[in-house]
Amino acid sequence: MIYVVEMTVGQWGVRVPARQGEAMRQALIKEGALDATLRVLRDDEELILPVNAEREGAGRYEFEAHPGRDPLPRHELVGGIAIMQYDDHAGAEQILASRPSLHTVVYAKGEVSGEYRTREFAILAGKPTTRTEVTEHGHHFIVDLAGAYFSARLSTERQRIHKQVQDHEMILDMFAGVGPFAISLAPRAALVVASDLNPRAIELMLENLERNRAKNVLPVLADARRLGAVLPWRFDRIVMNLPLSGTEFLEEAFPLCKAGGTIHFYSLVSAKGEHTDLIGALGGTVILEREVRSYSPGQWHAVYDIVVN
Ligand code: SAM
Repeated sequence: MIYVVEMTVGQWGVRVPARQGEAMRQALIKEGALDATLRVLRDDEELILPVNAEREGAGRYEFEAHPGRDPLPRHELVGGIAIMQYDDHAGAEQILASRPSLHTVVYAKGEVSGEYRTREFAILAGKPTTRTEVTEHGHHFIVDLAGAYFSARLSTERQRIHKQVQDHEMILDMFAGVGPFAISLAPRAALVVASDLNPRAIELMLENLERNRAKNVLPVLADARRLGAVLPWRFDRIVMNLPLSGTEFLEEAFPLCKAGGTIHFYSLVSAKGEHTDLIGALGGTVILEREVRSYSPGQWHAVYDIVVN
């Protein structure tokens, strides 16, 4: 007698209404994010599409493997680089061979750390580089994973804020990295001041401004604590994306924002409403608080949209 054992594999998945399934599948393939080794799940009127890495709105599901296609080891994609959490050379070669868009597979040796929020990587397969190009909603970002922070998981946030920007706004990105928020918000703005403490981030940002023809973004190499003293402007919108220690800079941000202006404040929290009192005491009203991504059991990255009174 032959027994057929159905193997399931735990993977990230995105849930979409069935009628949008094919469009979403094509978009994920284009992005290199669909895990083609696993079968799409159907749940009533919805489909769950398997994706290679955690992304906004994704959850963990059990998928059936496609017969004849070995599931790939877990990894996250940033442009042409796949990031693995384990030192697995054979798995890295398998990942590299799975998509022509990949040029390198690396292993993240440690956590994001230090003031510059960077990580150390070891090359496992492919071209020995941590530099790559990420395409996001029509923008092209050169990133160097070892040199400056970049997270592809924030692309939905950049689009959410982009939709709120009104013509001729003055915008400040206090922790701008290689410029993804600044460049995404620039098209309708009068000026975006994009500041960061990391010289390598500013170098890459300059390349990105050129590449995206973002002529109204002013890169500033500065400690955010000094911005109030050196900038002659007050802003309609401020982005504060330094989740681990952003609260230390809230006091600095409020005087930089016009009355009626908005601050998008990202923070690592372990309770809903954790910063509401502090924000109120500084003269702000929280108009939205939501989870951006989970961080560890009981902790998540939240965004607070704050209107300055
Ligand atoms: N907003 C960017 C993005 O989404 O890719 C980068 C966000 S990253 C979490 C935080 C950034 O803040 C890093 O690039 C780091 O170099 C910068 N940073 C840390 N402390 C800073 C400070 N005191 N002043 C200015 N920038 C700082």
